[in-house]
Amino acid sequence: VRRYLIAGNWKMHCRRSDGAALAADLAARVGPVADRRFDLLVCPPATIIGAIAQTVAGQAVAVGGQDCHAQAQGAHTGDIAAEMLADVGAGWVIVGHSERRTNHAETSALIKAKAAAALRAGLTAIICVGETEAERDAGHAEAVVAAQLAGSIPEGATAANTVVAYEPVWAIGTGRTPTLADIAAMHGMIRARLSGLVADPDAVRILYGGSVKPSNAAEILGLLDVDGALVGGASLKADDFWAIAQAC
Ligand code: 13P
Repeated sequence: VRRYLIAGNWKMHCRRSDGAALAADLAARVGPVADRRFDLLVCPPATIIGAIAQTVAGQAVAVGGQDCHAQAQGAHTGDIAAEMLADVGAGWVIVGHSERRTNHAETSALIKAKAAAALRAGLTAIICVGETEAERDAGHAEAVVAAQLAGSIPEGATAANTVVAYEPVWAIGTGRTPTLADIAAMHGMIRARLSGLVADPDAVRILYGGSVKPSNAAEILGLLDVDGALVGGASLKADDFWAIAQAC
């Protein structure tokens, strides 16, 4: 049985002091593993990953990055290697977020290389996929997501080192979400497609992301094949993020 993962993507928010306060607040609420149905993860901006990792050291809040470079080192001004994230205490990294695919023209091939880098560095990769509104309206949502999935999952991916996050682009930061039936259908499709891509598809956690909030978390997390949430805006408020986790 898959354990829920509740992940907060802080995006380009939080200075060191408010990030540390938020992480400490979460750490104070989370109890021993045996008492929890979920793992808790925060992904701060790269500048404060080390500080946040120190804040929650020894506590049951994991820390991740929001992106990494495919290479371990080199002449890549402004980029950050997966090994560097690991070095400052990250255990996870998000790759292929739609804001990276769009704002930085990232292709699935590049995301696959970044995910491979994450595995090389000993990080767990959270690989994001999701269709635009135009793609859904055209009836192509499942084909788009299937192609992203096939193109983005690296060799050696397993349930132990890889998580998939389905984030429809049009649901991010908009307050809009797909119907529960549409989420269930997409997660079921992703699960089926994983069988050709990883050895243990039934054990891979598939997160839903896009306008998850306390009021809709329970119904979304209650769906078959939804194994957690990747939360943006609501992860910046400890009360809201915690309420989402409590909905597991
Ligand atoms: P929101 O929860 O703000 O819609 O963002 C979702 C997201 O992009 C998480 O990665």
